[in-house]
Amino acid sequence: MTQWSKDIQMAEEERKRTVESLRKRFVATGHILWGRELSELTPHEMFRTVAATVKELLSENWIRTNRIYSEQKTKQVYYFSIEFLLGRLLNSNLINLGVKELLADALKGLGISMTRYYEEEPDAGLGNGGLGRLAACFIDSLAALGMPGHGCSIRYQYGLFEQKIVDGQQVELPDRWLRDGFVWEYRKPDKAVNVRFGGNAWMRPRPDGSLELVHEGGTTVMAVPYDVPIVGANGKTVNTLRLWNAELNKDFTLYGVTQEQREERQRYQRFVESITEFLYPNDSSYEGRRLRLVQEYFFVSAGVQSIIRNQLRSGVPLHSMDEHVAIHINDTHPALVVAELMRLLVDVYELTWGEAWAVTRRVVAYTNHTIMPEALEKWPIDMFKPLLPRIYLIIEEINRRFLTEVRRRYPGDEERVRELSILQDGQVHMARLAIVGSHSVNGVAEIHSEILKNTTLHPFYEFYPERFNNKTNGVTHRRWLIGANPELAQLLDDTISPAWRTEPSYMADFARYADHHKVQQRVAEIKATRKKILARWLREKTGQRIDADTMFDIQVKRIHSYKRQLMNILYVIDAFERIKEGMAEDFLPTTVFFGGKAAPGYYIAKETIRLICAVAQRINNSQAAEGKLAVVFLENFGVSLGEAVYPAADISEQISTASKEASGTGNMKFMMNGAITLGTLDGANVEIRDAVGDENAIIFGMHADEVMNYYANGGYSVWDEYNGNPTIRRVLDRLVDGTYGDFRSLYDYLLRNNDEYFILKDFEAYRAAHEEAARRYRDKEAWRKSMIINIARSGRFSSDRTIREYASDIWGIRGVQ
Ligand SMILES: *Cc1c(COP(=O)(O)O)cnc(C)c1O
Repeated sequence: MTQWSKDIQMAEEERKRTVESLRKRFVATGHILWGRELSELTPHEMFRTVAATVKELLSENWIRTNRIYSEQKTKQVYYFSIEFLLGRLLNSNLINLGVKELLADALKGLGISMTRYYEEEPDAGLGNGGLGRLAACFIDSLAALGMPGHGCSIRYQYGLFEQKIVDGQQVELPDRWLRDGFVWEYRKPDKAVNVRFGGNAWMRPRPDGSLELVHEGGTTVMAVPYDVPIVGANGKTVNTLRLWNAELNKDFTLYGVTQEQREERQRYQRFVESITEFLYPNDSSYEGRRLRLVQEYFFVSAGVQSIIRNQLRSGVPLHSMDEHVAIHINDTHPALVVAELMRLLVDVYELTWGEAWAVTRRVVAYTNHTIMPEALEKWPIDMFKPLLPRIYLIIEEINRRFLTEVRRRYPGDEERVRELSILQDGQVHMARLAIVGSHSVNGVAEIHSEILKNTTLHPFYEFYPERFNNKTNGVTHRRWLIGANPELAQLLDDTISPAWRTEPSYMADFARYADHHKVQQRVAEIKATRKKILARWLREKTGQRIDADTMFDIQVKRIHSYKRQLMNILYVIDAFERIKEGMAEDFLPTTVFFGGKAAPGYYIAKETIRLICAVAQRINNSQAAEGKLAVVFLENFGVSLGEAVYPAADISEQISTASKEASGTGNMKFMMNGAITLGTLDGANVEIRDAVGDENAIIFGMHADEVMNYYANGGYSVWDEYNGNPTIRRVLDRLVDGTYGDFRSLYDYLLRNNDEYFILKDFEAYRAAHEEAARRYRDKEAWRKSMIINIARSGRFSSDRTIREYASDIWGIRGVQ
């Protein structure tokens, strides 16, 4: 036997032993958990047994990772985000631990098919959309790169609502994701901290003339952490996502007290239970908005307290804390980190204001996610001050000192002071607090970062130019490619070698196969397979039959006016008109998919869903459209459904009004799976277009500067479009002539608001873009080539690249394992 074949034999025997030991472990775990034979377990119990086995496999690495961090006093980053849209964790944990095949083989030996149980895991839907999913992709990349980085958020009792379509309309059901418990979490009651609300705070002069803080009364809530292990794909690192739960104080009781005390305590109980009950409390009422502020301070205070406790335990003096800790705030929801860190350092640990401020500014960094001024978070002082009296005083002091600097720099320029002041017109401006209290402010795509500097945050850019930078978003290629599209991952392995899995920039090599006939064919087969799987899923789930041989044209994302699902469905209405008229003999057979949730109080978004469903109903039952055009609304879009949808797309619809979408990340997931972007020059679409070239993306519509120019100077009239273009007039009239029911809501919305997102202005260009898409799609070889180029150039949009940039430019951390 040669050495080589001996090695192979050894490896095979080793593998057999591993499979055997996994099998034993699995059986033992099932017996311990349930006290029954495996054959008697329900599917859900089976899933839990698989998950428990996986937890056993990761626990050693988790303990070791934490030991390394504390022994080496490694600098660590804490990513604070009010949302973490995790989705399911079993498949990605299996992949990241490198045991997916081994465990599947072990279970096969027991006559069990592991894939059957994935569906048993509820999605952890602790987020709305892109912002929350970004946080989830980031912690995956941090762990994969062996970097010390953890998440901090809220353990909501109910995640984002479950969407049902009933009679063609969205109905919201509570998302009871914790009903059977969350298998991946570890409750840590010994790490609980107290968070205080209300009371009175003021400064009292000491005998020596200095001031001391007094904070009396108020309510204390116990914050209990639930830790979720975040498994790195490097097979070593396991970081932590810490989710905080609000609980009653340990000595809470309703017994043995007077009626009055009883009522008081019941009020307290209701308050505590409300804090971590819902993601997005109803913001149409004052109480609902106030609850959101309570949530923000709750997780910020708990998170910062636990970080400081950690620092003290490892013996770090707090005035050099910035050498050991970075805190990143994902949008402004956690911006109170700035004030809370100051409070703890000054009031509790008695640093001077100057020392505390230097530390805070060096620790905190901020990511902005929107340029829309109306979407920047602000709190009425009347609400803020009674709820967080000490935090309010600190913000006043931060602002006082900041404005002194401003006035020194711009003497006599009170307009500047107004633009920059954290407290303005009776409100606390959270973005301003975040900028003043941090050392880095980043946008999430090049165009977005430029717009921030030039418009929305211009006065701050002039004041602190060195703080501003760009970090283009990314998505984890492990979930969105390796997990969601294993056949495509295999093709990359077979062509360019598997090194891309850990170094996604190597995907660029795949472009060498753009003209390779066999590879083109395999890419096409994989796409066809993914389309069939989606079609089968839809048939089994809803009974709707679709033709997987049609072009799949897909728009999935939150429903929002600026994302312009309305423009898409108006285009569909117009296409249907043409088909009926016989003007579209050669119409490329297409299935148009929509998916996404509308915020419960967002009327126009809900009407858009109702219109999509009405149009789908009409077209899918029309003789004329048969074989040419079909429309699908995918109910309850979320991470798990996304894993089935992104890989099945031919066309990725990214059609936001230019300047409005900060980055988008759905666009990257589609591209990674070989869909061609049909989109505007907005957010990361610009960089996608630059990466693939104009031949491999379909770009249309107004540019950001035109849009912003109209907003600033006017000059657009929706009536010119309506009166001047018969196509547009016909499509709009269809909303009110009964063809699809009564959609005067949307008709009026467009005409009365002067078409605020330029749907009609971009309409003809959008239609032409679809014609261009059909033209290109018909040339099979050219299309396949485009798919390959898109896949190859998507490596840049892995969140591994993004996280490396944050790590080196902002956080100053490195991989340690
Ligand atoms: C990626 C993702 C998003 C973000 O989509 P955009 O198209 O960038 O708005 C929203 N929801 C889910 C479930 C996602 O996975």
